[in-house]
Amino acid sequence: MNRDFVTTRSAGLERLAEMVPGCGLDYAARRNLDTGPLGEATTTGLSPYLRRRLLLEQEVVAAALAKHGAGKATKFVEEVFWRSYFKGFLETHPGIWTNYLDLVAQAKDASGTSSGGRRAYEAAVAGRTGIDGFDDWSRELVETGWLHNHVRMWFASIWIFTLGLPWALGADFFLRHLVDGDPASNTLSWRWVAGLHTRGKPYAARAENIRRYTDGRYSPTGLNENPIALQEDEYEPAITPGGVGECPTGEVALLLHLDDLHPESLPLGSARVVRLGGLVAHAPDATERVRRADEDAMADGLARAAAYFDCPATRVDAGWAGTLPVVTAWAPVGPSADALPAGVSRVRRQWDDLTWPRATRGYFQMKTAIPAILDKALQP
Ligand SMILES: Cc1cc2nc3c(=O)[nH]c(=O)nc-3n(C[C@H](O)[C@H](O)[C@H](O)COP(=O)(O)OP(=O)(O)OC[C@H]3O[C@@H](n4cnc5c(N)ncnc54)[C@H](O)[C@@H]3O)c2cc1C
Repeated sequence: MNRDFVTTRSAGLERLAEMVPGCGLDYAARRNLDTGPLGEATTTGLSPYLRRRLLLEQEVVAAALAKHGAGKATKFVEEVFWRSYFKGFLETHPGIWTNYLDLVAQAKDASGTSSGGRRAYEAAVAGRTGIDGFDDWSRELVETGWLHNHVRMWFASIWIFTLGLPWALGADFFLRHLVDGDPASNTLSWRWVAGLHTRGKPYAARAENIRRYTDGRYSPTGLNENPIALQEDEYEPAITPGGVGECPTGEVALLLHLDDLHPESLPLGSARVVRLGGLVAHAPDATERVRRADEDAMADGLARAAAYFDCPATRVDAGWAGTLPVVTAWAPVGPSADALPAGVSRVRRQWDDLTWPRATRGYFQMKTAIPAILDKALQP
């Protein structure tokens, strides 16, 4: 797959147009196959765009449905809904994010004091464990900012259950390097592999499965293929995300952030945008590649917004204030939400309002609601 992700909306639309012909039965048949960094794409590579909402979930889903019809596009559509499910789940369980940040800090302290732990961690992130496949994937992540979904699953399972490393440190390694690094999808996928999300059901990376889906490129030995799920205290029950207030009317300043860079389609009612600011809050310790992708995406969002609303746009910091009411797209749990100035009005998209209430328990609750959600979300 071409991993040269240019994080602008027009590059996202180009990739969507290129990939949508493959989003039917071909996708369902081939999506688990990892062909390596230079191999043919078996998935779309749309996640760097969806993560920043340079592309919207509904336009990607609508394109696949228009091309293939509901039957043949089902698998692809369900995968896009995993993204909405994880976002909704983190939004309704925000303590999981703060707990993750605490665990990363604790694990970094501990690996600083235990030389065994530090050596094991350093070998894993440098690709020096001796485990076939794993070492290449570690280097691939650092060198390209990308891993195929199946590789992410194998990698996380080997990290946790064969190498015995803390899951939160693995999630941190991913979040710093992935160009689609996302607080919800990443944290909750690592927890899912660990058996903390679907409690008691860890994901086992099996040598036979790796051989099969890498077409024999890798054949690791010594994997822990019978892992026991990690344990933790039950987290707090789901909460309802805070309500959105009325969007102010009249002249407003619109604040863009990295979780929503399609300001043209925000539900702003009768508000009139006369000023634009762009607030960039990277993932903690994000790599230079990720920061560049974030900066390019923000520059693109601001330029499009300035043309659309016909007003000035600048990069701003968290202290941005003025005489105008400030409106922003709802920022889900993560760095953008943490960085937003107090007192801004947050508007939420219909997509999030429709999907998040279905994300309080397991994915099945979301999956069964997909037709009803699409009935509403894809109305012209
Ligand atoms: C340990 C681990 C960590 C992950 N970390 C991230 C992350 O930081 N950011 C991220 O966007 N995804 C993450 N994922 C989910 C998934 O791997 C990526 O979304 C997917 O690989 C992106 O490639 P694609 O765009 O080609 O996907 P496609 O297969 O083409 O799917 C289309 C879109 O659906 C969504 N999607 C597909 N599969 C999943 C999934 N399993 N979970 C959530 N959304 C999905 C993505 O938005 C994706 O762009 C992680 C998965 C694992 C197992």
